[in-house]
Parts: sequence; C-alpha cells; structure tokens
Amino acid sequence: MKVIVVGGGIGGLSLALSLHQAGITVRVYETVWDLVPLGVGINLHPTAVRELTELGLADDLARAGVATQRLSYFNKFGQLIWSEPRGLGAGYNWPQYSIHRGQLQMLLLRRVRERIGSHNVRSGSRLISFAQSRDRVTATFQGGGSATLATDEADILIGADGIHSTVRRQLYRDEGEPRFAHQLLWRGAIDAEPFFGGATMIIAGHFNQRIVVYPMARGAKGGDLLTNWVCQMTVSDQALPREDWNRRVDKDRVLAAFERWRLPWLDAPALIRDTPDVYEFPVVDREPVQAWSFGRVTLIGDAAHPMHPTGSQAGSQAIVDARVLAAKLLANADPIEALALYDAERRPAMNEVTLRNRRLGPEAALQLAEERAPGGFDRIEDVVSRQELEAAVASFSLAAHLDAADVNGRPSFVNNGAVGR
Ligand SMILES: Cc1cc2nc3c(=O)[nH]c(=O)nc-3n(C[C@H](O)[C@H](O)[C@H](O)COP(=O)(O)OP(=O)(O)OC[C@H]3O[C@@H](n4cnc5c(N)ncnc54)[C@H](O)[C@@H]3O)c2cc1C
Repeated sequence: MKVIVVGGGIGGLSLALSLHQAGITVRVYETVWDLVPLGVGINLHPTAVRELTELGLADDLARAGVATQRLSYFNKFGQLIWSEPRGLGAGYNWPQYSIHRGQLQMLLLRRVRERIGSHNVRSGSRLISFAQSRDRVTATFQGGGSATLATDEADILIGADGIHSTVRRQLYRDEGEPRFAHQLLWRGAIDAEPFFGGATMIIAGHFNQRIVVYPMARGAKGGDLLTNWVCQMTVSDQALPREDWNRRVDKDRVLAAFERWRLPWLDAPALIRDTPDVYEFPVVDREPVQAWSFGRVTLIGDAAHPMHPTGSQAGSQAIVDARVLAAKLLANADPIEALALYDAERRPAMNEVTLRNRRLGPEAALQLAEERAPGGFDRIEDVVSRQELEAAVASFSLAAHLDAADVNGRPSFVNNGAVGR
C-alpha cells in the first residue's frame, strides 16, 4: 500500500513516522520549500507523548521541551482558583511537555527524513487538487513558484494540510472561511526568570481576557527559561483578520490591553515589552462536519478539526489522529474500510472537543470565578465549590480522552508498546 500525506506539519510528520512503523510506504508533500522552525509554544499531553515515545522519540522530546509538572488557574488579580499536577505527577506513565512548535516540527522532520528517505519528503510542492477512481487516488501538485504541475498516485491520500486545507476545501466546496470568534491571540516567546519552580503552566483571567504563560525550553543563558506567552482578548473587530501564523503585531496594542496585568508572581507588561517579536492570530475554528473520510481520502489534525486553543489540544490530537489512522490501515486489508473506521473512532470525540472549546473547555472555572467574584475573593471555596472545579476539569478530560486511566490503560495503537517506555 502507498499513501500520500499532504502537509508536513505536526500531524503529517507524525503520520509519516507511524505509517513507516506500520510497514506502509509513504510520501509527504509540503507546500513550504524550506521548512524552518516557526511558531511559539505548543503542549504535548501524555496521550501524545505516549505515541511519540512509541515512535522512539522520548529522548528527543526530553532534550527539546520542558516536562510540565503543574497547571494553575488564577483570576485576573492573580488569585489562585485551581491547581493540579500534570504528567507523571498526575499518575500518567508519560510526561506532559511544553515545547517550541517549530523545534518539534524540526525534530519530527529529521526523523522522517532518516526513516523514509529525504526523496520521499517533497517540500516546495503545493497540492492543487486530487481525483479518485475505484482503486487509486491521483494528486496534482504545483512546484515552488513555478507553473509546472506534477502528479503522483497512491492507494490513499491524507489531508494533513492545516486550517486552510486544500483537501478539505475539495471535499466541502461551500464551506468558506474559518469561523472567527471575535477574539485575538497575541503570542511571543522570550528568555525569562523561572516562576513557580520553572515547570508550571499558568492561565489567568476569564473568557474575554486572559493570559497563558509557560516555560518551554532552556534559555540561552544559565538559569533563564524560554518562556511562551499568549494574551487572548475579545475584540470588536468584525472582519476576520488575515490568518498567518507569522504575522507580527505592534506590541503597543498588546501592552495597551494588558498594561494592568502585573500579577504578584508575573509582570506581564514587562514580559510583553521585552519580547522582540509579537505575533497576532485570530481565534478561529470550523463547524464540525459529518464525515472526514470519503472513499480513499481522509483528513487529520487541523484539516479535520480546527479548534480554539483552549486546553492546548491541537498538536496532541493531531498526533493521536495519525496513530489511530496508521493502526486502522495496519489492521484492515481494505483501505476504504480502514479510513471509515478511523473516522468513526476519532470524529465524534473531536467534534465534541471543538464545541466544548468554544465554551472555554477545561478552563470554564475561570469564567465561573469572574462572574461570581469580579472584584476578587478571599477564599475560592466561597465562590466556586471544589465539586464544580473538579467537574469542569474532569468532564473535559474524559471527552478529549485525556484521562490518566484511559491513556495508561489503552493498548498501543501501532506497535504493542514495545518501543522506548
Ligand atoms: C507556521 C505555523 C506556525 C504555528 N505556530 C503555532 C504556535 O505557535 N502554537 C500553536 O499552538 N500552534 C501553532 N500552529 C498550529 C499547530 O501546528 C497546529 O494547530 C497543530 O499542531 C496541528 O497540526 P497540523 O499538522 O494539523 O497542522 P499544521 O501544523 O498547521 O501543518 C499543516 C502543514 O500543511 C502545509 N500545507 C498547507 N496547505 C498545503 C498544500 N496545499 N499542499 C501541501 N502542504 C500544505 C502547511 O504548510 C503546514 O506545514 C502553527 C502552524 C503553522 C503552519
């Protein structure tokens, strides 16, 4: 069997490694000619770290990322609402990592090139369209900047081509642009002094305005950590701003909105002011769809389920998609049946997570605290009960298949758990 993967992002590269591990021939096509480490922070939950470990990448991750040990929610004054252990400390058999998205992509790319051969990673090739017959898929690509078209054939084609997926557009011709939530994300990364011991992710604020901060790598000079920050804010802008992960924004706009956010343990304005490059990205998703798999073609990652960044799900869930899909192809002689089974297993859960993320997902406690105590509180128990806090976190965890019992207890998708525990 031969598979064409469209897109060399986190999902596409994880899929290439997984297919190779399953003994399936794969070729990756990526529109960007020269892949360089773009983006800022991303979180890998234990469910995804398990999968990358079973691909033999545990040491790569440990070197590149920071094993996140706690997640803490605060109100806009920096008062603690909720704090929980993460990764090994929360009973998972695998850590959680915060990591630079570009570094993660580069380490995956290096392993893909080693394992399937550089000639099977075709950069500078943009998918234009595909056509499927009863037993083949033919894909047409355009080479970097030239008008020359090239075609390739395979048994199946996977759209791992992100939020602006060409594959999805051909399957859902009338879908149009992503759905703008009238919120903006401002993102940056800078070497900073560690806070809370150097392995805590913090989220402070509420639905309309919040800040997410976490360390994701060692800093350039001893003691500092490369720290990712995201400011998210409701805006009155009606039009969808241009979605480009690398679009810089004037940091004065961010400072104006967050100038009062000097929290007891984090001077957010100073962090923003010191960051050389600040990027803007709109909060967008798409309506969940009724099918990802159409005969010999399917979707994974952001192409399948673009979602709000709440709960830091996109990277991890793209990796799990890749693993489930590879497992179905390994277990089923009929690729069309395999794609249908993958769709049936993954799509309902991801559609649910997409909708929950519009309502703050696991971070719903932030909004409860804001609505009930906008001026702050003496004791969180007087405002939001322990049961409410636990329920908000646990129900998301179950819906997204992140629960420790689920992650530790499920059989390996692809290789019976033999590699690199
Ligand atoms: C440049 C960039 C920076 C990002 N930065 C962050 C970040 O800082 N934090 C964060 O949480 N998330 C970031 N993301 C999104 C994040 O990577 C995804 O939400 C998540 O990892 C799911 O990955 P994915 O593989 O589905 O999509 P992506 O990682 O978006 O990968 C899709 C890939 O498909 C390629 N592609 C698109 N169209 C075509 C086509 N027609 N033909 C061939 N190839 C195509 C793209 O160039 C891209 O490499 C970024 C994405 C990109 C592309």
